[in-house]
Amino acid sequence: MDTQMLIGSQFVAGTETEEKILNPKTGETILDLPEASLSQIDSAADAAEKAFDSWAATTPGQRSAYLLQIADAIEKDADAFAALEALNCGKPINAVRNDEIPAIVDCYRFFAGAIRTLHAPVAAEYLPGFTSMVRRDPVGVIGSIAPWNYPLMMMAWKLAPAIAAGNTVVFKPSEQTPLTALKMAKLMADILPEGVVNVVLGRGESVGNAIINHPKISMVSITGDIATGKKVLAAASKTVKRTHLELGGKAPVIIYDDADIDAVVSAIRTFGYYNAGQDCTAACRIYAADKVYERFVADLASAVSTLKYNQADDTENEIGPLISKRQRDRVESFVTRAAEHKHMQVVAGGKLGSDKGFFYAPTVIAGATQDDEIVRREVFGPVVSVTRFSDVDQAVTWANDSDYGLASSVWTKDISRAMQTAAKLRYGCTWINTHFMLCNEMPHGGMKQSGYGKDMSVYALEDYTAVRHVMIAH
Ligand code: NAD
Repeated sequence: MDTQMLIGSQFVAGTETEEKILNPKTGETILDLPEASLSQIDSAADAAEKAFDSWAATTPGQRSAYLLQIADAIEKDADAFAALEALNCGKPINAVRNDEIPAIVDCYRFFAGAIRTLHAPVAAEYLPGFTSMVRRDPVGVIGSIAPWNYPLMMMAWKLAPAIAAGNTVVFKPSEQTPLTALKMAKLMADILPEGVVNVVLGRGESVGNAIINHPKISMVSITGDIATGKKVLAAASKTVKRTHLELGGKAPVIIYDDADIDAVVSAIRTFGYYNAGQDCTAACRIYAADKVYERFVADLASAVSTLKYNQADDTENEIGPLISKRQRDRVESFVTRAAEHKHMQVVAGGKLGSDKGFFYAPTVIAGATQDDEIVRREVFGPVVSVTRFSDVDQAVTWANDSDYGLASSVWTKDISRAMQTAAKLRYGCTWINTHFMLCNEMPHGGMKQSGYGKDMSVYALEDYTAVRHVMIAH
């Protein structure tokens, strides 16, 4: 197992406080990893700054070749990456191996192609005697900070567009899930020039805080909680850093009375609970039309009760545990508080999912109303609430009535109604008759307090470049 950070071309251990890295399936310690010191973070920023000029001067074709090598190397070692990610996050091995790893490999391949197609407007004479052109140049050293829910994928979403565009990076994985980032550090050190990617370990309030305040870091990209995003903004204001914020979500799902209920139930059984609901796009806040409400609740409760977790044979598991005891306790407390209200019914789950490890039983809470905490706050666990609505305008108003603005979905056979609703929803993504589906060609990112800046797609490349005007007198 790789346990050392990457600073320039050196593999080094942190010198500060040790963090316990746990196996969420058992609660047992895998190993202890020390975090980086302030001087190690300085060295990582120095190495990234030193590498910047020569990396930025490489051609898109050259950077593309590096990204393709990274993709091939991950693919070649896919089983080991999947096993390590499953160990550190508690994810079912099949979900990582068959869903996540191919999407991660494709992310590097997508940006390898996309960087060769990035265009600016044509050069032209907007003033007589002067020719203007627009350049898209890299921003500088990027400080990238990732969450624990999809460690390897978040690393790909952050690193691939940043380095494709000619930036260099200081990357910090979540202190809870650093293992695959350390394996990636080894892989990238074998492929990339020294200093292009640096990986440091540590907690948010120490190492993360040093990154977001570092004078040599020109832009901070973070995926995490809204509260963390606000801290990044406060730090950025001191040196006017660029920021790229992917914050939480509380995805509304509007089910109209003509929807295919079997299809919705099957989709919510999967996309409300995938990754144990620790997903910022999880289909967790359902609004069901009066006419279909009773049937939907009954069918969803029985479907969710069949979800497999905590099986001795991991290949049978459909969902894993929560990432930590703290996260499981948080999820449990949301359900306990909801159950104290008479108008809500826990119709599936509502209990711990194991004696050891951090499992929580997949849960459905029916009868929720718009003002309930379970409808308003991000649980980030395997818990879905269902709210009844009586008219279309009410459903859209309630769906939009949220601090979050990342993802949403609408279920109906009436395409005009679907399109009208999609146009009114204030979310970075609206799916029609599906949920959760992402592809590297399309942008992913939020509105409102879910943040701004796009992951995936050419829009991410744009976010990691500065638009510049060059004018020639003749
Ligand atoms: P978190 O905000 O606690 O931590 C995210 C990262 O930020 C970690 O690496 C952490 O160490 C770091 N961090 C924490 N405090 C910091 C500080 N003061 N300064 C600098 N860095 C700091 O979030 P989490 O618990 O790891 O992840 C769950 C959250 O992430 C959820 O809210 C979820 O919705 C969100 N998320 C969003 C997306 C998206 O695409 N929008 C994707 C995945 C997760």
